[in-house]
Amino acid sequence: MNVFPLKFREVTGGSVLFADDAGGFFKSDADFLERYATDRLQSTDYRFLERNGHAFSEVGDLAYTGFVYRWANRLFQPGELDYVILVPTLRCNLNCSYCQVSRVNEGTPGFDWTSETLEAVLGFLNGLPTKTLKVEFQGGEPLLALNILKEVRAFCRERFDKVEFVVCTNLQRVTDDAWEFLSDDDTFISTSVDANPETHQRQRTVSDEKTTEFFGNLRRALDLFGTPKVSALPTIDICNLPDPASIIETFTGYGLNSIYLRPVNYQGFARKRFEAKDVSVQWNAYHAAFLEALIEHNWTATEPVEEYYFVHCLRRVVRSGHHGHADLRNPNILGRSYIVIDHDGTFYPTDEARMVTRLGQIDLSMGNVRTGPEESVIATLNEEAFNNFHPDCVHCPYQAYCGVDLVDDLSRYGRIDVPKHLTDFCQRHTYLFDKVFELLYSDDPKAQKSIALWAGMPQFDPGVAKVHP
Ligand code: SF4
Repeated sequence: MNVFPLKFREVTGGSVLFADDAGGFFKSDADFLERYATDRLQSTDYRFLERNGHAFSEVGDLAYTGFVYRWANRLFQPGELDYVILVPTLRCNLNCSYCQVSRVNEGTPGFDWTSETLEAVLGFLNGLPTKTLKVEFQGGEPLLALNILKEVRAFCRERFDKVEFVVCTNLQRVTDDAWEFLSDDDTFISTSVDANPETHQRQRTVSDEKTTEFFGNLRRALDLFGTPKVSALPTIDICNLPDPASIIETFTGYGLNSIYLRPVNYQGFARKRFEAKDVSVQWNAYHAAFLEALIEHNWTATEPVEEYYFVHCLRRVVRSGHHGHADLRNPNILGRSYIVIDHDGTFYPTDEARMVTRLGQIDLSMGNVRTGPEESVIATLNEEAFNNFHPDCVHCPYQAYCGVDLVDDLSRYGRIDVPKHLTDFCQRHTYLFDKVFELLYSDDPKAQKSIALWAGMPQFDPGVAKVHP
C-alpha cells in the first residue's frame, strides 16, 4: 500500500490535522504522526487511509486515478477573457477617508475616457473571442460618466450573446437618468455600507445630510430592485472596530444576508492615513469575533447570514473546483480571464495593481487598449502565480485550499520572496483555514448549524470531518 504524502499541523485540543495534496483531510493524534513519520503504520492505519482516499495499491488503480482527478480539479485553469473591469472616470463626489483608488474631485477635467479611448475600448472588446461577457464599472464614481456607461452597455448588448453589468457605485447622488439605467435586468449594483450609519458617516459621507441621502438611496435601490440585484460590503478600520452585532443588524435591516468583511486595503492611497500594513493579528481576532456573532445570530434567525470570504474558504476545503474568487486561487493566473482598463486606457491585471502603480511603487501596467496587452509582463508575473512549488507552502496542510496574491506581496513588501509565514496573506489564510477546521470539527450545535448553511449542506454531516483514532 502506498500513502499519498500527508502534511500536518497541530490544531486545537492537541490533535493533529492531516491533509494531502488533493485536499483530502482528517484529524488524528501525535501517535499516528509518530507512526507515519517513522514508517511504522499499522494495518488499521492503512485501512483508514485507503478507505478515505489517502492511499493506493498501484499507479492507475481507482484510488490513484480518483486522487489525481481531485488534485487536478483543485487547480484553477483560466478560461478565455470574459470579465473586464472598466474605469471610465476617476472623478468622484465623495472623498472617503480610506479611499484606495486614485480618485479626483468631481469637477476635475481630464480624468474621464476621451472619445478616442472609448472607441479603443470598444474595439478591444469587439476583438474578444468570448460570446459571454461580464463588465464591472469602477471609478471614481462611474455614474458620473453615465453617458460612457450607456455607450458601453449598448455596444456589448449588440456584440455578445450574453452580457452582465455591475456598477460599483457609492449611491450618493443618483439622477433619474441613472435610476433608469440601473433598472435594467442585466445591470447590478455593488455599493459600500461601512458597518453601521455612524461608521459610514465617519469614514465616507461625513455630513448628516449626505448620510441620510445615501441610506435613502440604498433603501430605494433595494425596494426597486431587491437583493438579487444589489450587494453591499463594509470596509473596516482596524483602529476603530465597530461592534460585530451592529454590522449584522444594519445589513439584515436592509435584507442583505451576505457580508464581505474587509479591512481597509493596504494597496493604494489608504496606506497614507491608516495603519493597514501589519494588522493580521488584530484583524484575525476581530474576524473570529464576527464569526461568533454570526453563529449566534444564525442559531435563531430565519434568514441566515454569511461572511462571504470565510464561506469561500470553507467551500474550497469541502469541495474541489471552487475557483470563483480572484483573490484566492491556485495558480492565480493574472491577465488572462479578466483585466482592468483604467481611465487612460492602460491595462492592469487587477484593480489593486492599478493602485500600486499609481503610487509609484512598482509599475504593474501591462499594455493598453491601443497597442494591446504586453505578453512579456503577463508571463513574468505568472511565473510566480503558483503555490505548488513554494518552499514554505509545500509543507502546509492548507496548500490545496490556499492560493497566491503577488500584487498584495508586492504592495506590502516590494518583493515576492518574503518567507510566507511573515506575510499578511499567509497569516490571514492560516487563521481562516484554522477557523474552518475548528468549526468543521466543533461539537457545538450552533457552529454545526452555521457550517452546514455556509457549506450548502441541508444539515450538518459529522462524517465530513473524519477522525482517525
Ligand atoms: S500561503 Fe501560508 S497558509 Fe497558504 S499554503 Fe502557503 S503556507 Fe499555507
